Amino acid sequence: MLPWTTYEAMYDAALNRPEKFWLAAAQRVTWKQPPVTACRTRADGWHDWFPDATLNTCYNAVDRHVENGRGGQAALIWHSCATRERRVVTYRELQGKVAGFAGGLRSLGVEKGDRVLIVMPTMIETAIAMLACARIGAVHVVVFAGYAGPELARRIDDVAPKVIITASCSFQGQTAIPSAPALNEALAEAAHRPQACVIVQRKACPASLLPVRDHDFHMLEHFAPAEPVTLRSEDPLYILHTSGTTGHAKGIARDNGGHAVALALSMELIYGCKPGDTFFTTSDLGWVVGHSYGVYAPLISGCTSVIVEGGASASAVHALCHEHEVKCLFTTPTQMRLMRQESRHLSGAILPALACIFVAGEYADPTLLDWARSYFRKPVVNHWWQTETGWSITAHFFGLAEREPVALMNDIGRPAPGFRPAIVPSIPGERCGEIVLSLPLPPGCLAGVWKDRTIRAPAAYLDETCRYYRAFDEGMIEANRAVHMLGRSDDVIKVAGRRISGVQIEKIIASHPAVHACAVVATPDELRGQRPVAYVVPDPEVECAPSAEEIVARVNEVLGRWIGLKEVHFVSHLPTTVSGKITRKRLLVS
Ligand code: AMP
Repeated sequence: MLPWTTYEAMYDAALNRPEKFWLAAAQRVTWKQPPVTACRTRADGWHDWFPDATLNTCYNAVDRHVENGRGGQAALIWHSCATRERRVVTYRELQGKVAGFAGGLRSLGVEKGDRVLIVMPTMIETAIAMLACARIGAVHVVVFAGYAGPELARRIDDVAPKVIITASCSFQGQTAIPSAPALNEALAEAAHRPQACVIVQRKACPASLLPVRDHDFHMLEHFAPAEPVTLRSEDPLYILHTSGTTGHAKGIARDNGGHAVALALSMELIYGCKPGDTFFTTSDLGWVVGHSYGVYAPLISGCTSVIVEGGASASAVHALCHEHEVKCLFTTPTQMRLMRQESRHLSGAILPALACIFVAGEYADPTLLDWARSYFRKPVVNHWWQTETGWSITAHFFGLAEREPVALMNDIGRPAPGFRPAIVPSIPGERCGEIVLSLPLPPGCLAGVWKDRTIRAPAAYLDETCRYYRAFDEGMIEANRAVHMLGRSDDVIKVAGRRISGVQIEKIIASHPAVHACAVVATPDELRGQRPVAYVVPDPEVECAPSAEEIVARVNEVLGRWIGLKEVHFVSHLPTTVSGKITRKRLLVS
């Protein structure tokens, strides 16, 4: 039961008495050594949450529910939109599989602190691999299965994994894409050599396992079960790469204790879910929403989590919500646009168990939210997220007795507890500007950035006073705390809600020998929200001009086809400032 009925009472409690607030929130977690201190500043200036406490996240997500009588409840329900397979795994079954696979990982030499790279589509095995790492204190690094070999190689070299786990294939629509070519290319390109690869064999496209290097996933599930190890709250649970302005993806590190507390509180406070409820996120497990709300938050809270492989159609979402009595659906505007497109042929949804629908990840047009409200006949709200924060910065609070003000419903809501946003206007006196968040950030947010084999304070996100985290999003704040989002202040592009940096794409294009200069900008896309468009200046010194097809192929080869680059314009020059910096915003309007 939440101790507050109104938003203001809840938010003020976190603002004015943060130690008390977070120590009380921490009671949702089963600790080995319970916390006495909520937050402590580290020697590097960043912050640790519950620094004197110990726990195991996998124990909180799995074992404790079996011990508390939920062993027979479905923990994970998986539906593949590609193969139409469906699987249900109870908490008791999950415990057996996770403990066995954790033992299997140990047999391959994986120990506490080792990194394990998981390159998998959304499958039950992906969640098992994540939880098994958490069980033995290994740090999982999940990589979206759509990445091509070179980008995979970069991540292998960044985190130096002891083991790589992959599926024999993933799917693009209904087409099976074997994983071996990208994996082998990545392993040939990377300097680091993992000790072993673990393969989930899929019927649609089994792989031939290489002797010595490769191991069968399901064989490893049968190893002697490994018990959950005791970890310090601040020990890393996972690293997840995300694009920024640096041209290379950064590894965002997440802790164990703060993450478990923030997610457990959010399930109750934001999504209004209690143990036994069913939560459904359409996000791929390779992205942050999949990590937080496909796996950890619902499981830590004793809920049932519905996860899907591939883009679920309106009818599939409807069927899953209906069949499993989903209470809360979490999706993206892109997914919702797909559903709207298909729903013309469907009658409206009748889903009595569904209480609310949340979207996040990209701009949500109010007309889209209105369509979803009329189709599902439920409250549909938007909230603001980042990989770095791990949970929503601003949201709507369905766990509070006070009803959400209707006027706020189309926007990203008000700050979640512990988030203290402020605006830094680019022109003094303006209401709009870059959104910054006062430090310390609440629990659950980045514990640092992975660099040179250690976790470091995220210097690239700090303002010059080192008092604020820069969100690199622009917006404004109302007197009633409501935040409005205007978009990114940097070059990050959201393709179907997935994040990629324009500079990252530019670097690939610029490596073409016949390219003199280039710029990549985002343009609106009817279905996918945004897509990249490239402006290329051919090198006049090179006789053979580059073709648009070559440029697109080069980007796809390095990053993967999901980037969706189709439009390449050849221009004689790019607009620049007097100091020679490319002004991408002028390309957008030209
Ligand atoms: P990611 O790290 O992939 O979750 O992407 C984070 C970025 O997505 C944010 O910095 C925003 O630019 C954008 N974003 C997330 N949620 C929203 C939202 N509700 N409305 C508009 N943009 C959003």
